[in-house]
Amino acid sequence: MSSKTTYVDVILPLALPAPFTYAVPVELAELIQVGHRVIVPFKTNKLYTGIVYKVHGSAPSVKPRLIETIVDEEPLVTPFQLKFWDWIAQYYMCTIGEVANAALPSGLKISSETKFFFNEYYEGDYTGLTDEAFTVVQALKARKELYLKDVQELLQKSNVHHAMQQLFNHGIAISKEELTYRYKPRYETFIKLHENYRSDEGLEKLFNETANAPKQQELLLAYIGLQKQYPMVKKGELLKAANCEPGVLKRMVEKNIFKEFRSEVSRLGIFLSETEQNLDLSATQHRAYNEIKAQLATKQTVLLHGVTGSGKTLLYIELIRSYIDSLSQCLFLVPEIALTAQLINRLRKYFGNQVGVYHSKFNLHERVEIWNKTLSGEYKILIGARSALFLPFKKLALVIVDEEHDSSYKQSDPAPRYQGRDAAIMLAHLHGAKVVLGTATPSIESYFNATRGKYGLVEMKERYGQGRLPKIELINLKTSRKQGEIKGNFSNRLIDEISSALKAHKQIILFLNRRGYAEYMQCNTCDYVYSCKKCDVTLTYHKYQNKLICHYCNYQINLDQKCMRCTSPDLEIRGKGTEQIEEEIAELFPDARVERLDLDALKTKTGYIHTIAAFENHEIDILVGTQMVTKGLDFDRVGLVGIIDADRLIYLPGFRSAERAFQLLTQVSGRAGRKDNEGKVIIQTSNPAHPLFQLVMEHNYKEFYRTEIAHRSQFIYPPFTRLIHINLKEKDVKALEAASIWLADNLKKTIKATILGPAVPYISKLNNFFQRELLIKPTSESEPGPLLKQKISSVLINLRHHKDFKKVIAQVDVDA
Ligand code: ADP
Ligand code: ZN
Ligand code: ZN
Repeated sequence: MSSKTTYVDVILPLALPAPFTYAVPVELAELIQVGHRVIVPFKTNKLYTGIVYKVHGSAPSVKPRLIETIVDEEPLVTPFQLKFWDWIAQYYMCTIGEVANAALPSGLKISSETKFFFNEYYEGDYTGLTDEAFTVVQALKARKELYLKDVQELLQKSNVHHAMQQLFNHGIAISKEELTYRYKPRYETFIKLHENYRSDEGLEKLFNETANAPKQQELLLAYIGLQKQYPMVKKGELLKAANCEPGVLKRMVEKNIFKEFRSEVSRLGIFLSETEQNLDLSATQHRAYNEIKAQLATKQTVLLHGVTGSGKTLLYIELIRSYIDSLSQCLFLVPEIALTAQLINRLRKYFGNQVGVYHSKFNLHERVEIWNKTLSGEYKILIGARSALFLPFKKLALVIVDEEHDSSYKQSDPAPRYQGRDAAIMLAHLHGAKVVLGTATPSIESYFNATRGKYGLVEMKERYGQGRLPKIELINLKTSRKQGEIKGNFSNRLIDEISSALKAHKQIILFLNRRGYAEYMQCNTCDYVYSCKKCDVTLTYHKYQNKLICHYCNYQINLDQKCMRCTSPDLEIRGKGTEQIEEEIAELFPDARVERLDLDALKTKTGYIHTIAAFENHEIDILVGTQMVTKGLDFDRVGLVGIIDADRLIYLPGFRSAERAFQLLTQVSGRAGRKDNEGKVIIQTSNPAHPLFQLVMEHNYKEFYRTEIAHRSQFIYPPFTRLIHINLKEKDVKALEAASIWLADNLKKTIKATILGPAVPYISKLNNFFQRELLIKPTSESEPGPLLKQKISSVLINLRHHKDFKKVIAQVDVDA
C-alpha cells in the first residue's frame, strides 16, 4: 500500500489570514472529515481547537506539523456552515478565523489558554462520569484550577477532550467568566409516584386506599394532570396545582406513595409536552398568509409589511407550521433576545419542546447544549438574535426575520461586522430555504427590493380585531415654555393626558432615548464641563449611583460636591435622561406605580424580566424607558405613549437618521392601544413643523419611503450603492493623521470608487484612541464587489506592513 500523506487545512479561531495546513497521522487519515474538530499545535507548544476546512493530498511547501487528535466522532460543523463562514469572511472583509471565533461557543473551542476551574457551587454527585473524568474532578478539587496540559499530564494522553467536555456539560468544570458569575447548576425537587402505583391497577388500589383522605386524592389528581403535561413533576408546581398544604404531600411521601428526588434542571427549561393546535387566523391574516405562500412559490424572500398590532406573530406561527417537518428546521431571528420572553412563550405554546432559544447571556453549558440539539435536529425552531445564524442547522426550510428594520441586526464590533438580516438571507439561500422579513416600518433597503420585485411584498394595514392605530398629537414645547404651561420636562397637556389615563386604569409608556439622569455636568464658576478622560464625550450623570459615567468606555468618577477644576461648589446638571423623567413623574403622580426600563435596568440580569412581567400583569402604571420599550412588546392595556423629546430623534447623525427617526417614532407609538382599546400618543417637540412628524401622524409609510428614496438616490446612498467604512485608530494622533492620508491616497490609486475623507468622526477619541474615518462609495464605474474588496484588502495589508504605521488599527465595516 502506498503511504500517501493526508493533509488538512484547519481554521483556527484567530485572526489568521487563511486556514493552516497540517499533516494527519496515518491512524487518523481514514477517519478525518471536513467539519471535524481537531486539536492542533500552534506556535511553540500552544494547543488550539480548530475546524477541518479541507482534506487533501497536496503537500505544502513548508513541512507541516501533525494534528494531535480528532475531538468528536462526528463533524461538529456542517458543510453549510463552512460555506456560510466563507461568505461572511469574504463579504464583510474579515478572516474566516474571526468568523469561526464568533460562531463557536467558547465551550467548544478549548485551547491551551483555557483554564478550567472547579465549580464550588456544584451540588450534584459524580455518578455517570467516566473514570478519566472522575480523576480530573479529584485533581480539580485539590488544585482548584487546571490548564489543558495539566489534564493531559494527569491522564497521560493528549486527547482529553471527552473527559473535559463531560465535566463542562455537568457544570463541574467551569470557565473563568462563569467563575466570576458564580455559575450554579440549578437543582429542583421533583415528585414521582412510587413504582407500586404506576400501573392502572396500582392507581386504582391507591384511590381505594385514600378514599377517606380527600386532600390526598386531590393531590393525586393534580399529580396525574401535571404528569400528562410535563416529563417530570416539580414539587412546587404540584403543591400549587393541588392548592394544598405541604404537610399533605409530606405524609404521602412518608407513606411511600410519592417519592421526592432532586435533579439538575437545564435552564433551557422543561415545557408542556401537549401543545395548542388551534389557530384562528382573522380574514386579514388569512389573506396575508395565502399571499405569502403564493409569493414564496416563485421568490426566495417576502417582505411582510404589517402595521403594529396587525398580528404578525400568529402569521409566523402558521408559516412555521407549514414548513417544519421531520427533517426541516426554522430559524426565527429577533433583534434582541432579552426582550422577547413574550414571543418565546407564544411559540412554545404551539411548538413545545421543539423550540430552542439561543442567548448570548446563557452560560457555555447551555450554549453547547443548544448547539448539539440543533445539530441533532431535536430543535426544529431556533429563536435567537443575530448570533443564532451560526448554529449548525441540518436543513433550514424557513427563516423569519422579525423587526427586520432594527439596527441591532448589525454587529459593529468585533469582526465579523455583519448585518444579521442580510446574512440570514444568504444563509437561507445556501439551504434553499425561504425568508420572511416582517416589520411595521420596513428598512429602506428591503422596501426598495420589494418595489423592484426582488422580494415579494405582502401588507396588513389594519390592527387585529377592533384595534385601531393610535391618535398622535404634537405638542410644541417652545409655545408651552413661553406660556409657562410646562413643569420640568412635562407639558401641561401631557400631564393632563397622563392623569386621565391613570384615572381610566390604563397604562402609560414614557419614552426618552437617553439613560442616566442628566446629559452632562458643568461648573457655573469656571464653565468646566465634565468629560471622559479617555474619550471625546461628556460624562452622563447617574443620580442613583451618584456617578458620572462615560457611555462609550464606561469610565466612571464618583461625584464630588466641588468642581474638579476650580473647587467651586456651584455645579449644575444640564439635559435630561430617563432617571430624571422617572423622578419627575413620581413627584407629579405620587400614587402611580412607576418603573424604568433601560440599559442600566438590563444590567441587573433579572431586573428587566421582572419589570416586563410586572408591566404585563398591570402591577406598574407608568413605564419610563429608552429604545427598549419600543421593541415589539405587546401590552394590551397601554392607553398612552408619551415621547418626551422628539427633537433628539430627528437630528441624529448619519444618512439613516430620517429612517431611524421614522421607525422609532412609529414603533414607540405602536405600543399604544392594542386589541380593542384605542390609544393615544403625545409627541413633545420644539420643531412641530418638521415634515417627518406629519408622516408619522398619518401612519404614512409609503410617503415617507418616497421622500427618503428620492433623497438617497440624489446623494447616492444605499440602496443605490454599498458603503464600505474604514475606521483608523491610534493613540498617537500624528501617526494616525499620516496613516489616514496615506491610506486615502493609496486607495485612490488602486480602486475606482469615490473616497470620502479622511475625516474626524463625530466622536474623535474613544478609549484613548484617536479616530479617523474613510468612506468608500462604489460607483457604476467601480470594479465588481469581490474584486473591489480584494484590492482594498491588499492596500490595508500594505498599511499594516508600513514601518511608520505599525500601531495603527484599521477596521473595515461593510454596509455600516
Ligand atoms: P404585531 O407583531 O403585528 O405588532 P401581534 O402579533 O403582537 O402584532 O398581535 C397583536 C395582538 O393581537 C396580540 O395580543 C395577539 O395575541 C392578538 N392577535 C393577533 N392575531 C390574533 C388572532 N388571530 N386571534 C386572537 N388574537 C390575535
Ligand atoms: Zn469650576
Ligand atoms: Zn469614555
